[in-house]
Amino acid sequence: MKRILVTGGAGFIGSHLCKRLLNQGHKVICLDNMFTGTFDNIDVLCADDNFEFINADVTDPIQLDVDEIYNLACPASPVHYQYDPVMTAKTSFLGALNVLELARKCAARVLQASTSEIYGDPLVHPQTEEYRGNVSTIGPRACYDEGKRIAETLFFDYQRKYGVDIRVVRIFNTYGPNMLENDGRVVSNFIIQALKNDDITLYGDGMQTRSFCYIDDLIEGLIKMMGNNDFNGPVNLGNPHEMTVYDLAKMIIEKTGSASRIVYMPLPADDPVKRKPAIELAKSKLYWQPEVSISEGLDRTIDYFKTKLDI
Ligand code: NAD
Ligand code: UDP
Repeated sequence: MKRILVTGGAGFIGSHLCKRLLNQGHKVICLDNMFTGTFDNIDVLCADDNFEFINADVTDPIQLDVDEIYNLACPASPVHYQYDPVMTAKTSFLGALNVLELARKCAARVLQASTSEIYGDPLVHPQTEEYRGNVSTIGPRACYDEGKRIAETLFFDYQRKYGVDIRVVRIFNTYGPNMLENDGRVVSNFIIQALKNDDITLYGDGMQTRSFCYIDDLIEGLIKMMGNNDFNGPVNLGNPHEMTVYDLAKMIIEKTGSASRIVYMPLPADDPVKRKPAIELAKSKLYWQPEVSISEGLDRTIDYFKTKLDI
């Protein structure tokens, strides 16, 4: 049994990860400031004696004794990370610094949840780990993108300077149960709108692409990366099935049998035109690839939101 710290453990990805680690028999400490995390997500976990919740901010130094750390604390939806951009930059930088200091003190292995956003609006397609990105330092997404980039830098400097045992994964758009109803990201927005027969808010012409990974697949990738003994990353984790946002809207309308109509709204500044992970590295180093199709994953997510909305 390991003692494992999950920062951001009450959020979407974190709550699934905590559950999985508890099921594996570990002691799990969830540290979260509840900015986008919810007690709904962790209520069921609190009944487990091996689960501990600490209401704290990752920008403050952490004093714990742990064997492994997953650093997930950071709002991930553009709506939420742009709400207080200074806080987002602080969370990314100071959060990384604090978990790395903790890992150094406890000789713990530490995994950073980085992101496809470090590639910015990519000029290379699909995005391989060697690609260094096309990122604005001054735009509305920069607080998140540059925050995540400096976090990666800190991770590799702590490895080189102090020998800290690091892992870095670059997560591409992930979706599933436990996303917030007002999360603002496209999958949850469209499903909620469709279930309520409200207008579907399509930004731009809807021809921008994303590649959506179901949460269970991502969790498998995170666990495999943490368990890998000879590879630090960075490694892309995502589903290479690329689609337009318009096609996603059509698919969700069809699956929900919704009477919603699509309304076109302005494209937010610096919204990436296309995104698709190259996952050859994950396949060869981790023997990992996604198993859940977009159709199956959407069905499960729609069922979750139906229960949430009491439909
Ligand atoms: P989320 O917003 O659901 O979860 C983030 C969690 O971090 C929340 O519980 C929030 O309360 C907590 N948090 C935020 N700031 C904090 C702080 N200063 N101190 C302590 N806790 C704090 O987002 P998510 O989708 O679960 O994303 C988790 C991680 O994965 C994030 O680091 C995100 O950047 C990364 N990621 C997610 C995706 C995705 O598609 N979901 C893609 C790329 C990267
Ligand atoms: N999007 C949209 N309508 C919405 C929310 C998002 O058309 O209600 C678009 C957004 O402009 C982007 C894509 O869907 O092109 C994915 O957005 P999301 O916020 O989920 O994640 P991103 O990949 O941009 O961080």
